[in-house]
Amino acid sequence: MDIYSFLPSELEEIIAGMGYEPYRARQLFSGLHRGGNPYKFGLSKKLVDELLQRYEFRPVEIIRSLKASDGTEKFLFKLSGGNLIEGVLMRYSYGNTLCVSTQVGCAMGCAFCASTIGGMVRHLTAGEIAAEVISVNALRREGEGRSVTNVVLMGSGEPLHNYDNTVKFLRIVSHELGINISLRNISLSTCGLADKIYRFSDENLPVTLSLSLHSPFDEVRRKIMPVAKRYTVAETVEALKYYFEKTGRRGIIEYAMIKGVNVSAKDAAELKRVLRGLNCHINLIMLNEVKESDLFPPGMAEALRFKRMLAAEGLSATIRKSKGAEIEGACGQLRRRYIEQN
Ligand code: SAH
Repeated sequence: MDIYSFLPSELEEIIAGMGYEPYRARQLFSGLHRGGNPYKFGLSKKLVDELLQRYEFRPVEIIRSLKASDGTEKFLFKLSGGNLIEGVLMRYSYGNTLCVSTQVGCAMGCAFCASTIGGMVRHLTAGEIAAEVISVNALRREGEGRSVTNVVLMGSGEPLHNYDNTVKFLRIVSHELGINISLRNISLSTCGLADKIYRFSDENLPVTLSLSLHSPFDEVRRKIMPVAKRYTVAETVEALKYYFEKTGRRGIIEYAMIKGVNVSAKDAAELKRVLRGLNCHINLIMLNEVKESDLFPPGMAEALRFKRMLAAEGLSATIRKSKGAEIEGACGQLRRRYIEQN
């Protein structure tokens, strides 16, 4: 097990069980999550030696990084068992957002997404997800890179499918003794596991919740997102409403524009109908072309027309500026190419 998967209370039990003073746990947690050499956390050498023997201290390693001209950086992380995952650091005026992966691959099967092509290999542990953030933060200390102020769970994987580890990761990354990123600065994106959205609403973790909707019509959504066979759009939007009532947060609807699939006037009118009563903003994204799929983005003129149609329906929508296209910013692309080449 990796050492980053434990909360301070759990580290206390571990340390007490090893015969040391439990209060050392806070020091250990802080040191681990703020990064650095474990022998410099102020703990006895004997305790650190024993911990290093029992637990994995380097669950992820950055093996490749690519920088785009807009400052976006893409990282390929290697997990201790050899599996590969990706992360992307984006620079905004308000801070630096790291997009993290929650699974190796993905089981959801969305037709337009590169992450799911080889299926799901395994869930990441809470500590592995945290270690993505910690390893990017560590670059800054070595003089490259910048520290992470915001996190989006929008890399490979479906966070609510890896429910327990995702929830634990959120408690770890927002812990004041550690990385200490405010929940307000964290977004979780889901393809719409409605039962898990209800459960998540009661965790007291008020992050920004994004729903990958991509079409307001059940029959279209079922063709591009298998999850839609389990939950209708209406059921999913109900679950979101519950989340927003519980947390007081405003929601985000992710909408990848796909030529000939979801950018007509009928789509705009139906979106207005299905989103009625939901306090949300629509993020329009140009579909990133994935060579394994036969779906394409609309032209810019058509995308702008769709945005105007949404505005005419009274919906709040913006086209999200694409970042890092030249470094294969889209989900799973860098990992796939690396696997193909090696
Ligand atoms: N599993 C989660 C989070 C990961 S994907 C989810 O489904 O929300 C993050 C976002 O990128 C989702 O909205 C997903 O639908 C979208 N996405 C995946 N492949 C894409 C592509 N080729 N072009 C544009 N958006 C894509």
